[in-house]
Amino acid sequence: MSFEKNIRTVVPYTPGEQPQRRVIKLNTNESPYAPSPKVAEVLHSFDADSLRRYPQPDCHVLTEALAAYHHVEEDQVFVGVGSDDVLSMCFLTFFAGEKPILFPDITYSFYEVWAAVYRIPFIKVPLTDQFELRPEDYRRENGGIVFANPNAPTGKAMSLTGVEQIIKENPDSVVIVDEAYVDFGGESALPLISRYDNLLVTRTMSKARALAGMRIGYALGSKKLIRYLNDVKFSVNSYTMNAPSLAVGVASLEDERYFRETTAKTIATREWTKEQLKKLGFFFPDSQTNFIFASRPGTSAERLFEQLKQRDIYVRYFRQPVLDQYLRITIGTQQEMETLIRELETLLKKNF
Ligand SMILES: *Cc1c(COP(=O)(O)O)cnc(C)c1O
Repeated sequence: MSFEKNIRTVVPYTPGEQPQRRVIKLNTNESPYAPSPKVAEVLHSFDADSLRRYPQPDCHVLTEALAAYHHVEEDQVFVGVGSDDVLSMCFLTFFAGEKPILFPDITYSFYEVWAAVYRIPFIKVPLTDQFELRPEDYRRENGGIVFANPNAPTGKAMSLTGVEQIIKENPDSVVIVDEAYVDFGGESALPLISRYDNLLVTRTMSKARALAGMRIGYALGSKKLIRYLNDVKFSVNSYTMNAPSLAVGVASLEDERYFRETTAKTIATREWTKEQLKKLGFFFPDSQTNFIFASRPGTSAERLFEQLKQRDIYVRYFRQPVLDQYLRITIGTQQEMETLIRELETLLKKNF
């Protein structure tokens, strides 16, 4: 059909399954804990009448709260509908050159999708066989750089020295550091934003703040970068975030104690799970996130994935080279992980 030649076609990102039944859900890196009780309070007392009005186009209530929380100026903060929205805006804004952008060959698979949909040329830079990102591999001509630290789906973190090296060696490129998992470990690049105008750090409230359903993400960087981002945002959709999301984001930031407690619980359970998986013969990069990317020599990851699913335990399996040897297992509650380990023990005894 001839009209189809003018259509923007793209192979979309595939999100993890969201089964409607109650299962042990360890497949999309959500929090197993409820968001802060302050979030519930805000939602219960939300004034529905106020929804007649458009939300604040500059999302001031939330950018102000984030600026205070991170000790930066308000015009160093950009917010969006999850960090997916923020990152998508970043690709559209910062990667408008002709030279290819760089990102690791194994990383958040959405980067390649945004590059494709916006027609941005890209080069996937191989990680080492230990899933390490080598800063010197990014010392080449490029139109921009993006990577996740800690990385996904490997769970591995790179040192701040390595991150700084990439930023320093690429002063003519915008460098985006996706810190979706930094609450669980690794070193944040935030202290560097005051020194490097070309650095943008993205964060999300979906993981450690248990607000995946609310869609709240943000970016922190130099005033210049934030201004460029806002110019593009206001040229696409002035009202990205809805009023309840803005209020919920502020409420979450007000409950630091709860955030710390639940994050610490996830980290403790992660360390326990590492020990158990090791005993069962699994190998994995040392995770600094809320998931473990595990492989067991001689065991089909795909079969294990299917068998766990039959037992109502959902983990993530990627059907692509290298990754297909692994399962990405989100850290749930301690009890959920104990069930997982028990089921794995039984399965490995019986079938493998
Ligand atoms: C989960 C995730 C995101 C996006 O999260 P949002 O829910 O859109 O905020 C971004 N980057 C990485 C690496 C992630 O794992």
